[in-house]
Amino acid sequence: MRIVIIGNGIAGTFTAKNLRALDKDLEIIIYAQENYPYYSRIKLPELINEKLNFNDLIIFKDDWYKSNNIKSFLNKKVEKIDHINKKLIIKGETEKVPYDKLVLATGSMPSIPSIKNANQMLGNGVFTLRNIDNAIEIQEFIKNNSIKKVVIIGGGLLGLELAKQIKDYNLNTTVVEFFPRLLPRQLDIDCGGMLREIIENLGIKVELNATTEEILLNDNNSIKGIKIKDGRQIEADMILIQAGITPTIDLAKSAELNTNRGIIVNEYLETNQKDIYAVGDCIEYNNQIWGIIPACIDQANIVASSILGNKNVKYKGTIPKNTLKIIGIDLTSIGIFDPEDKDLIGAGWQILKNIDEKSNCYKKIILKDNKLKGAILFGEKNAIPYINKNIEKEVEDKELRKAINLYEWICQICGNIYDEAKEEILFKDLPKDWKCVCGASKSEYKNKNLN
Ligand code: FE
Repeated sequence: MRIVIIGNGIAGTFTAKNLRALDKDLEIIIYAQENYPYYSRIKLPELINEKLNFNDLIIFKDDWYKSNNIKSFLNKKVEKIDHINKKLIIKGETEKVPYDKLVLATGSMPSIPSIKNANQMLGNGVFTLRNIDNAIEIQEFIKNNSIKKVVIIGGGLLGLELAKQIKDYNLNTTVVEFFPRLLPRQLDIDCGGMLREIIENLGIKVELNATTEEILLNDNNSIKGIKIKDGRQIEADMILIQAGITPTIDLAKSAELNTNRGIIVNEYLETNQKDIYAVGDCIEYNNQIWGIIPACIDQANIVASSILGNKNVKYKGTIPKNTLKIIGIDLTSIGIFDPEDKDLIGAGWQILKNIDEKSNCYKKIILKDNKLKGAILFGEKNAIPYINKNIEKEVEDKELRKAINLYEWICQICGNIYDEAKEEILFKDLPKDWKCVCGASKSEYKNKNLN
């Protein structure tokens, strides 16, 4: 059986890897538009500031493809899928490529918000960062134009990670975010505020509630800065846009696959056309698009089984899990982090939360009927393995509290409880002369959760 995979990002590559692990005899072929084998997109910002070169980013080198007997054709654009004859038309090639099963892992493109002059200046002072070639282009533009001031549009994970690397390159750096907080998809207001302070302490300027309306140009058509809808203006000689992704679906449309925002798949990652599957950033499942690495990995696992006829494994979506990859900042957000937003609180939902401003630490745990539904952990990494292991599972209060290091303290005299997961201040940080409601001193309290 010949399986052709279009795309060699994480979803396409892991599909190939998983298929090979399940079956030694399959013919597995990857077609990729880029000219590089599977590499780490997370590290692209470090290509811009020359901490790394592109070879450092490559994860699977040629020998991996050889030893796994996976054929990889780089720099080949699949122009059209002839789904009736089960063949691919490759740009510049006369011979069509036949397949028995086809996997679309075409990924996504950076979204470009509607900003005056943005499209017009793309590649000429305005850039997005999605692949190695983009990073090299940005790098060269910085050098050739002696760039000093950079505005990054988008205060999400990728925007902040990029901002840190741009700042490390000694450029004046400003992050502009549409929402009233950084990482709007990962953080609540409280934690967003703490993160902002830390980001600003790194020397990165932050502008929130900022809808960029226009890219301002000098008389010679070079970049002058941006104009925000409320009138704010920020000077810059380069603009980097990291404002989310748009699934790449044009090829899918050519094969009459059902698409909406992404390529529509079912729980087996099948499209509406027989023997055509889709995985990764390009898909839409259950009205949702994902665009996160854990989803790509989950889907690559399931599609491999599905292609080989195993219908026991079904995709049920992926719990969002994100870690900010900035050295010195420990920040992880998993699952549902703000049930207040959804008016769910009360109906069996429980929040354990502690803001320790002294040590810049924020912990928030979301439970529903004792089931762990989500967490934000900021300035705290010890609890991450426990949270990862138990997400969507029922947890024991005692174990959870040990993991997140927030305890209930009980007054031996009156039975009053001081719960660190509901109070602002840790019990140990209460002043020495703090008194219980019954008048007892701190020393009358015992940790209720530890034996
Ligand atoms: Fe008491």
